[in-house]
Amino acid sequence: MNIRIGNGYDIHRLVPDRPLILGGVDIPHSLGLLGHSDADALTHAIMDAMLGSLSLGDIGHYFPPSDPQWSGADSLLLLQQVDQLIRARGWHVGNIDAVIVAEKPKMKPHLSAMQEKLADVLHVDHDQVGIKATTNEKLGPVGREEGIAVYAVVLLFRG
Ligand code: MG
Repeated sequence: MNIRIGNGYDIHRLVPDRPLILGGVDIPHSLGLLGHSDADALTHAIMDAMLGSLSLGDIGHYFPPSDPQWSGADSLLLLQQVDQLIRARGWHVGNIDAVIVAEKPKMKPHLSAMQEKLADVLHVDHDQVGIKATTNEKLGPVGREEGIAVYAVVLLFRG
């Protein structure tokens, strides 16, 4: 089989005094995402989808939060490593479709910058990285602005 599909999910808490980084883009906001690395939930969900597509487990296995070397890590560098891992096995990203679920701030003005950063790291065209955003209609923890969640689907092809 020359195509594989994977899905990824991530959620991080919104807290004061932390940057809000999604897809490598630093988004101005009063709250930021809490995590061991830079807590870039979008990049994490994409990495999990890439790993999942090849049944390679999840990012916790490759970059354990217990390991101090990943403290404050730039998730784009971790994504680069996951990309190298799949390329070493002969696979490439066909396309990505991700959804950011966030009540605030507005994501739309930042989506194309995220797309650009992720596409550059993965050495694919910008239109191979689809990123959408929605609110949770004020429902649940995401709706109460306690966190930001991301869903991602990735298609890989061999060649
Ligand atoms: Mg994460």
